[in-house]
Amino acid sequence: MKSNAVKSVVLDIDWSAQTILPIEFEGRELTLDARAYQGVDPASQALALIHRAPDAAANETPLVRVHSGCVTGDIFHSLKCDCYQQLQAAMKRVTTAPLGVVIYLPYHEGRGIGLVNKIRAYALQDQGLDTVDANIEIGAPIDAREYDLSAQILFDLGMPEIRLLTNNPAKVEALKAQGIKVVEQVPVVTEPSLYNKRYLETKRARMAHKI
Ligand SMILES: [Zn+2]
Repeated sequence: MKSNAVKSVVLDIDWSAQTILPIEFEGRELTLDARAYQGVDPASQALALIHRAPDAAANETPLVRVHSGCVTGDIFHSLKCDCYQQLQAAMKRVTTAPLGVVIYLPYHEGRGIGLVNKIRAYALQDQGLDTVDANIEIGAPIDAREYDLSAQILFDLGMPEIRLLTNNPAKVEALKAQGIKVVEQVPVVTEPSLYNKRYLETKRARMAHKI
């Protein structure tokens, strides 16, 4: 209910809400602090899941994953991308760190071009185009993701200084541009499948990913 929501002091966050969320991860029950955020743009929503170990130092630098939502990968474990494996690897790191956060961004679907454009691009990839050229062919940006909401969430959480779990240098730069201090880029290593080999190779060759 919107009436129960906490009105945020951060300008571009319209409203937010908070609860305790029990989850099962790798056979263990974990209790996470869950915060949902609504940006001023109706499409910009995010879920932040925060894990804090009882013995975490007060000045602990959080390990943060800013994860772009992927319906096909995250939910249905599509083999066309490595989103599911990255999310699982990130959850493992975050929930075993003294202080860890996953910021999940559903509106980043298809690197920000949306679900329908992503599926159109997949169809073109089946005809031989790589992920970058497929986006060019349908007139969509190669990467339309923005990180202003993520940065504002980190400020709202009192985390202006982070260790970032990512292979993507552009994500580090984007958060830095929003005023977040990224003291370390921590790589997320996943195993390639038969289907996502070319997707991963394109990330490495054309998008400067460190994988
Ligand atoms: Zn994906």
